[in-house]
Amino acid sequence: MPWRPVNPASVQGEVYVLHFDRPFGHARHYIGWGRNAKDRIAAHRAGRGSRLMSVIREAGIGFRVAAIMPGTRELERRLKNRGGGARSCPICHEESCSSMQ
Ligand SMILES: [Zn+2]
Repeated sequence: MPWRPVNPASVQGEVYVLHFDRPFGHARHYIGWGRNAKDRIAAHRAGRGSRLMSVIREAGIGFRVAAIMPGTRELERRLKNRGGGARSCPICHEESCSSMQ
């Protein structure tokens, strides 16, 4: 079998969007990727797996899982480049819709 380089950006996993209960500085979301999003999110709840998520936990800020979608690190990067979590976050969309009524 010919050797083929594995492109890490093409590994299928899950991209997730976490919505913080209150803003931390300018951050209100965390977008991440993992082979198994639920495992990654469980680690984040324990303050592991990401510098930002450990800081969030130390600050006593909770978070909700706004979205989990199948995808690659490439999708994670696209969502981050697209203007951060708010545009990918159903919780923010609901809040901005209900505040317009
Ligand atoms: Zn949000």
